[in-house]
Amino acid sequence: KPKLLMTPGPTPLPPEVITAMSQQIIHHRTKEFAEIFSRVNENLKKVFQTKNNVLTFAASGTGAMEASAVNFFSEGDTVLVVSVGVFGDRFINICKTFGLNVIEKKYPHGEAANIDEIIDILENDKSNIKGVFITHNETSTGVTNPIEKLARYLKDKDKILIVDAVSSLGAIDLKTDEWGVDVVVTGSQKALMSPPGLAFVSVSDKAWEFYKTSKLRKFYWDFKKYQDNLLKESQDTPFTPAVTLIRAVDVGLKLLLDYGLENNFKRHTRLAKLTQLAVDKLNLELLPKKEYSSAVITAIKAPEGIDIEKVRKIMNQKYDIMVAGGQANLKGKIIRIGHMGYVDEFDLLKTIQCFELSLLECGYKNFEVGEPTKAILQEIAKEV
Ligand code: PMP
Repeated sequence: KPKLLMTPGPTPLPPEVITAMSQQIIHHRTKEFAEIFSRVNENLKKVFQTKNNVLTFAASGTGAMEASAVNFFSEGDTVLVVSVGVFGDRFINICKTFGLNVIEKKYPHGEAANIDEIIDILENDKSNIKGVFITHNETSTGVTNPIEKLARYLKDKDKILIVDAVSSLGAIDLKTDEWGVDVVVTGSQKALMSPPGLAFVSVSDKAWEFYKTSKLRKFYWDFKKYQDNLLKESQDTPFTPAVTLIRAVDVGLKLLLDYGLENNFKRHTRLAKLTQLAVDKLNLELLPKKEYSSAVITAIKAPEGIDIEKVRKIMNQKYDIMVAGGQANLKGKIIRIGHMGYVDEFDLLKTIQCFELSLLECGYKNFEVGEPTKAILQEIAKEV
């Protein structure tokens, strides 16, 4: 039996996506490829909720995060990076690597960014902040940042907003154009129900103006090369694309859009609610406050005196369910249950059952066995 991936990516693949990958390679400078790639681009625009082209890279999400620093700024430019966890910190590291002058605004793990505070920093800025980087859904802490207000604030300012939506796009609402997010970055292996290996970036008109003055070095990552190839009659990529992965994401996007973007947002919110019900019945605590707790990943604090890494390993080795532990300084302190992409309520039920048993095996007994699972089942039963 394959392991059930209840992790925050990579996520399980629908059978149709797996099938799409078992085909002969086609050449990418052909009408046949252009047909698939154009459809992918059109569907990506729908999922990104943008009229702009979405650039496709053979890379993981981090590659596109790096590219989004390299394409819009020059050495010494000042940027504000908001971090609520590991992936916000990654943006800080990337920006520093390329010699940007980084103003860091960090929040304790489990907290969301306070947007009013960030706007205040921008209002009182004397260092000519050119860009703001923020994570939409911080996978390491299970927190979703309320970015809409920040995006709307920045819309008419001479600064661009760059959002890491690697773990949220397609599962948590992000209205790229309506809110005015200039650059949105995501990856194939999360809500898009596709394998790892592709990264996608949308670029606003305002961001293209910033591109023109950017002096940081780039070759493979030069966004204009990708944009130019999308503006051709027969769309393709400047370099050899990951043809098989593009076939896969073509199907993943189609499945997602057939189901409906709005429906998918609701479905993820519901999976999160069901998980939270179980957490209550386990007498455990979420790491974030409920209002910021993510729709795609639930971060749960380890109970006092319990080896939560052992719990995670039992779930994996004995029950074939993969959930995630804590990253960086949260290692051993939390367990994270992903409910992202091609997983449903019954996958979640099974996960909670095995979580109950694994907790018991590790000595945590402060709950009524079966109650967490029952809470989920009763909620599902309301809709029968
Ligand atoms: N940002 C976020 C919010 C993520 O969840 C991840 C992956 N866990 C990344 C960035 C990095 O993506 P990748 O591992 O594909 O480079």
